[in-house]
Formats: sequence, structure tokens, C-alpha cells
Amino acid sequence: MHEWSLAEAVVEAVASFAREHGSKRVKLVRISLGELQAVDVGIFKEALSLLGESVEPRIEGFQLEREKAVLLCRGCYETLLLEELSLSDEEREAVHFVPELLHAYAKCPRCGSSDLDVIRGRGVSIKSIEAE
Ligand SMILES: [Zn+2]
Repeated sequence: MHEWSLAEAVVEAVASFAREHGSKRVKLVRISLGELQAVDVGIFKEALSLLGESVEPRIEGFQLEREKAVLLCRGCYETLLLEELSLSDEEREAVHFVPELLHAYAKCPRCGSSDLDVIRGRGVSIKSIEAE
């Protein structure tokens, strides 16, 4: 039910923003979904469209985009993309569900440090709202 509570938080934030601005309808909401945010996109989309119909003003459409995960190496202070790391499929999947496992599996390809911080690619954020 994790997807539903995330969707509910997004829909409520958009609806209250729209009400405050006196909007009659919300045409499109663009949402960014971090690569490391474990979410079933199918369920999340379904939850958004169902919940979007039940608020005032109604939210007519959602557009999801995936934000790539970016890491900062504390060894050499270089940033790198998660996809640049050489992880096996199982490790990659584990990291997507439990980002803390990154430290167990991942090493910086430049300096070999496993002290990596996720600086982008977690969480859900609202990028823009088209309303009238
Ligand atoms: Zn490094």
C-alpha cells in the first residue's frame, strides 16, 4: 500500500495548491520519481488517477519521469551515476529496494571507496502543475 500513500500525498499537495490558487481544473501534473525510490510504477499510476478524480479540483492527468540516481564519492569527491557502477542484476535490484545496501555492494570506479552518498534519485517530487 506504499504506492497508495505516496499517491495520496502527491494528490493532496496538488489539490490544496490548486485550491489556494483558485484553479478550476488541473490538467497535468509532472512528477519525478527517483531511480532509488522503490515504487511499482503501474500501481502508483493507477492510484494517482483514481485519487486524482476524487479531489476538488479534479486532476486530469499525470506524467511520470524517472530521475537517475546520482552518487557522490566521499573518497575522491567525484559524482557518478548509479548505472555507471558495476553491479550484478541482483545487487542492482537489492539497492533499488534498500538504498543503504549501496555501501555493501558499490565501490567508486575511480578511487575504490565504498563511501558513497546518494545525492539525487530518492523520493518523489512534483515538477510542475498545469492548471487553469
Ligand atoms: Zn571515488
